[in-house]
Amino acid sequence: MDPKPSDIATDPVDLKAMSREELEALAERMGQPRFRGRQLFKWLFGKGATTFEEMTDLPKAFRQALAETAVLGTITPVAMQTARDGTVKRLFSLGSGERIETVLIPDCDEDGRAKRLTVCVSSQVGCAMACSFCATGQMGFRQNLTAGEIVDQVRFMNDEALERFGRTVTNVVYMGMGEPLLNYDHVLRSVALLTDADGFGLSPKRLTVSTVGLARRIRQFAHDAPRVNLAVSLHAPTDEKRSAIMPVNRRAATDLGALREAIRHYTRQTGRRVTYEYCMFAGFNDTDDDARALAGVAAWAPSKVNLIMYNPVEGLGFSRTSEERLDAFIRLLVRRGVPVTVRRSRGQDIDAACGQLAVKNG
Ligand code: SF4
Repeated sequence: MDPKPSDIATDPVDLKAMSREELEALAERMGQPRFRGRQLFKWLFGKGATTFEEMTDLPKAFRQALAETAVLGTITPVAMQTARDGTVKRLFSLGSGERIETVLIPDCDEDGRAKRLTVCVSSQVGCAMACSFCATGQMGFRQNLTAGEIVDQVRFMNDEALERFGRTVTNVVYMGMGEPLLNYDHVLRSVALLTDADGFGLSPKRLTVSTVGLARRIRQFAHDAPRVNLAVSLHAPTDEKRSAIMPVNRRAATDLGALREAIRHYTRQTGRRVTYEYCMFAGFNDTDDDARALAGVAAWAPSKVNLIMYNPVEGLGFSRTSEERLDAFIRLLVRRGVPVTVRRSRGQDIDAACGQLAVKNG
């Protein structure tokens, strides 16, 4: 049967924003067997096709009908910076003209071989959460990304990883621009695409979604993506301090009490521990009292704490904690049995704090 373009939406549909099931249904609506949708899926998300012509195992008439009624939304690289420590940051332009940034973070052994290659993806342009220490938060919210735009960031960085390190990306973290759980559907779709054997084929355990702590969404996420890691941007251990730097904490539905219950639900439901991201700000959240309060938060449920050395952002008024203070802080946590890791900011010579490259070029 001939394809019937009139059967599908009149506005061009973005195939890169569709799930495997939706592509199969689309193929059927266009008079094709369902498996054509799966072939299409493989071309888009497994092989990274950018044109219909290269999809050579699809019938020509089907490809032509697709070209008339659908588009392959993609992102376009516009700038790149490489730091001395090997971190690569790329700026991409979306179809709308808005810009986002993505970072590739190599973790190398003593011989310089990459043990781990992590891509930090953006999920939104700008962010509505307005955290006072964050460059992206100062932009306000501009746009959600589609699942395809999120996956394409990984695809471009995967090419970069192969070229520079001779191996593919091993981990993906949703810690770039935006609050992933406010772009819930497309973030979940992108998780499905990245973990599909016909797509990117990553294990869900290699993915981490980071949230500012939206309690209701965390509960939902526990059901929808129980094998994906969850990180919570805590950054302060009391309601008073957290509300001072993170407006989200000022609402009862998303304050520390609500977060505690959501996290307990998450860990019970998934059997996974949660990671608290804690950016150290000199003189604000790095005192002994803060360490004791943070240990209290860490005791809510199985968890670990990731201390982050802050990359100061010009004009935002926060500075980096000293190494001595960091050591004392860690000792207090360890004495209380809290598993702690420290993340040194990567790519300090290339504007690697979240949102800085896009803000400068925006
Ligand atoms: S820290 Fe994250 S949640 Fe807060 S404003 Fe920045 S991007 Fe948004």
